[in-house]
Amino acid sequence: MSRSIERALASLTFAVSLAVAFPAGAAELTFAQKLDLLVAAYPGSLAKAEGGRIHFRDGDSMPLDDGKAKDHAEKLANGDIEDSLSQIYPAGPCERKPDVNFDPGRIRSDALMMRLYGKSAGVVEASLVPVQWFGKTLRVTSRQGAAAALEKVYAELQAIPELKAFLSPSAGTFNWRKVSGASNMSVHSFGAAIDINTKYADYWVWSGGKPGRVAKYSNKYPMKIVDAFERHGFIWGGRWYHYDTMHFEYRPELIAIGKAAGVSACR
Ligand SMILES: [Zn+2]
Repeated sequence: MSRSIERALASLTFAVSLAVAFPAGAAELTFAQKLDLLVAAYPGSLAKAEGGRIHFRDGDSMPLDDGKAKDHAEKLANGDIEDSLSQIYPAGPCERKPDVNFDPGRIRSDALMMRLYGKSAGVVEASLVPVQWFGKTLRVTSRQGAAAALEKVYAELQAIPELKAFLSPSAGTFNWRKVSGASNMSVHSFGAAIDINTKYADYWVWSGGKPGRVAKYSNKYPMKIVDAFERHGFIWGGRWYHYDTMHFEYRPELIAIGKAAGVSACR
């Protein structure tokens, strides 16, 4: 499937999945329902979840669950698809101090991310396209609709002049690397994350926090920014116990799952 069709399908299916998938206020989603939303969020790459495996459109497949019992740190270091869907992301234009070890979206399956975006720096680089950002050009992956979604975020936010100082200059998008101090891949590796102006950033490590023991939370970014990103499929690092407030990454499955579960940051 061509990249442009893949992109169009991703944004269309994402919108449809938000609108009709599940009734608002549903108490809890089954794992199967979460998997349906995962597949719907990446329609160009994912075909279905069946028989304990996620099936790709090219015929390949991988297990959903590695069968290992993990604590939170182990899920962060070595998450599988099941782990990555275990915490429900709460979106909405409201700030909420995260509970201990509540890191929705920070747990990821590197193996799945590599299948969605590329297994090496060179492969990901080949997918990068320019996205305008306050007079600068960012490089963002065109795969899965990520660049198109960031363009929509920019179109909304650049129209609100008082937000520019928080957003520009961007502290970076594509960068093939591990999460700082960790063994798993950063979503910057896949060209599907953006850091906004670092001048207003708060980061759990800078606060003197240790893994699993973060004393204080703070955020200086207006929630209007967070709301715009979330409405276009990005999650915010400011919702994590191990917070990183300048960081946004494209995870449309988690926005869709939170919405379907009736979970909101505003209550
Ligand atoms: Zn980041």
